[in-house]
Amino acid sequence: MTTEYKEPGPVLDQDNPFESMMQRFDKAAEILQLEKGVYEYLKTPVKQVTVSIPIQMDNGQVELFEGHRVIHNDILGPSKGGIRYAPDVNIDEVKALAAWMTWKCALLSVPFGGAKGGVKCDPTKLTQVELEKITRRYTANMMDVFGDDKDIPAPDMGTNEQTMAWLMDTYSMHMRKTVSGVVTGKPLLIGGSLGRREATGRGVMIVTLGAMEKLGMKPKETTVVVQGFGNVGSISAQLMKMQGCKVVGISDVTGGYFNKRGIDIEKAIDHVSKNKTLGGFDGADKITQSELLELECDVLIPAAKEDQITQKNAGKIKAKIISEGANGPTTAKADPILNDRGIIVIPDILANAGGVTVSYFEWVQDRVGYFWSLDRVNRRLERMMKASFDNVYETAAKHKVSLRIGAYVVAIDRVARTLKIRGIYA
Ligand code: NAD
Repeated sequence: MTTEYKEPGPVLDQDNPFESMMQRFDKAAEILQLEKGVYEYLKTPVKQVTVSIPIQMDNGQVELFEGHRVIHNDILGPSKGGIRYAPDVNIDEVKALAAWMTWKCALLSVPFGGAKGGVKCDPTKLTQVELEKITRRYTANMMDVFGDDKDIPAPDMGTNEQTMAWLMDTYSMHMRKTVSGVVTGKPLLIGGSLGRREATGRGVMIVTLGAMEKLGMKPKETTVVVQGFGNVGSISAQLMKMQGCKVVGISDVTGGYFNKRGIDIEKAIDHVSKNKTLGGFDGADKITQSELLELECDVLIPAAKEDQITQKNAGKIKAKIISEGANGPTTAKADPILNDRGIIVIPDILANAGGVTVSYFEWVQDRVGYFWSLDRVNRRLERMMKASFDNVYETAAKHKVSLRIGAYVVAIDRVARTLKIRGIYA
């Protein structure tokens, strides 16, 4: 890969997750001096499938939903990536999320390619019966795509362990045998892994502590703000607090919650388990979503959705470290603003990679039929997260770039070198 390749970056007038991802990809490709053909190959998804999902709703009416699955790359192994149920799911977003999975798996040395799926629907407005029908029909329509050695889904926003159980059951019914390894993030009873539910938040905590150590920050003197209080946000908040940090702000769709003396995270988790959201939580003062991101704090963990830190608010963020629990929470245009202000951003493909790492452990356990202790899962997760953090840190220092570009360099280099060894089939 020696021929220098340069292409002028697109001039964007708005943020788009796929283009945001491509701008970072382009910077890393330039450092790696990727050949033009390899560059084109690595940026293009290998497969995009869109299916229609007709469902008879509880009221007897038939409604049509749209589902996607994008396999971005499968050079390193079977493709891997979550399935998102949300009203704004679209193919551009799914393509970006699929590419992120490729780089995330490569970065962690997990032998998977990258994929992502989504169904355009509002899970909060659907009954369990309707959600089950959507999941089963989506799976049936994707029978040729999914497979325990081909493409392995997992949960993402709007989907959970139950969704994965329905998916696994539907796939198994079609295959006439139980195939537990076709999906990860399953309930323990049907082949899930201990520690999977907490894995993403635990990974966020491990790399955040790593960055804090580099800056000489002590957990007991560190304040944390977390945006999003679902799987990733609530566990990140809980684990950072267990390390001794003070979590002063949390948020979810209902708004932001601030308490300068520190929020009782267990109480907030309990509130959400009883009420579904933080709405009505009385352990903090109510603030707006944008106030939350701009709070005085040391660490900010965006763990909700894409495009939250933009060129509009990047100049107002006060945290010293941003640890990206969510995928794509920072737009490409916000990157240089944060860099110039000396804010360390632990990029999504590193910070939230704990989830796919333990998904990999789950897949290994399913295929071997032998299940690990929680201690073994957590120790191995910590080892892999720390090694990846160090690798990214050193690569960024070597090329004098941000941790984000350092992470892309490590990941793209690994995929490009694997491609070179495998060669191109023709
Ligand atoms: P989730 O559905 O469990 O939780 C999402 C949370 O974000 C909810 O509390 C929701 O109320 C909140 N939210 C939504 N819109 C918001 C807004 N505008 N402002 C503030 N809060 C808002 O989802 P999750 O699994 O925790 O995923 C969160 C992010 O982490 C997503 O970007 C996802 O792709 C990423 N991620 C998840 C995993 C995983 O293992 N679950 C792994 C890697 C990355």
